[in-house]
Amino acid sequence: MILPIYVFGQPVLREEAQDITPDYPNLKELIANMFETMDRADGVGLAAPQIGLPIRVVVVDLDVLADDMPEFKGFRRAYINPHILEAGDNLVAMEEGCLSLPGIHESVKRPDRIHVQYLDEEMKPHDEWVEGYLARVMQHEFDHLDGVMFIDHLSALRKQMIRGKLNSMVKGKARCSYKVKTVK
Ligand SMILES: [Zn+2]
Repeated sequence: MILPIYVFGQPVLREEAQDITPDYPNLKELIANMFETMDRADGVGLAAPQIGLPIRVVVVDLDVLADDMPEFKGFRRAYINPHILEAGDNLVAMEEGCLSLPGIHESVKRPDRIHVQYLDEEMKPHDEWVEGYLARVMQHEFDHLDGVMFIDHLSALRKQMIRGKLNSMVKGKARCSYKVKTVK
């Protein structure tokens, strides 16, 4: 089932999301719905707060990038209760966008490697260092679970430049090809 994507201005995007327990109801169905919603919107990642749920669940699909990055062929994963424990010192800038911020693309500096802990879809625990593009996507998505959006990482000047677009979103004017839920 395709769910509406919550857009900037929705309070749930600013909440601290909570870890879930293994008996969380209909988790498989929720994850399937998140994948379907992300696919429909052509995203590479989607965090549960973006569909209105303040819980620590994220889906990532990098298979769509496999033409350019063959290492991601078939890469489609869910991350449950993910946490970033530490990050490398080396910062890399890359342009980011977000399904909850339609029409905004800005360069964001982030560490190029991170140490993460999470459960996979089978509730199996993982503890690993991740680098490169996946580390970038994970940081963007896991930020959502802490109520952080990529625009929070921008300079004051860049924030000023996108203020008009953000104000329009809060007023319910989000232009995109997928179903969204604005505040108004
Ligand atoms: Zn996002």
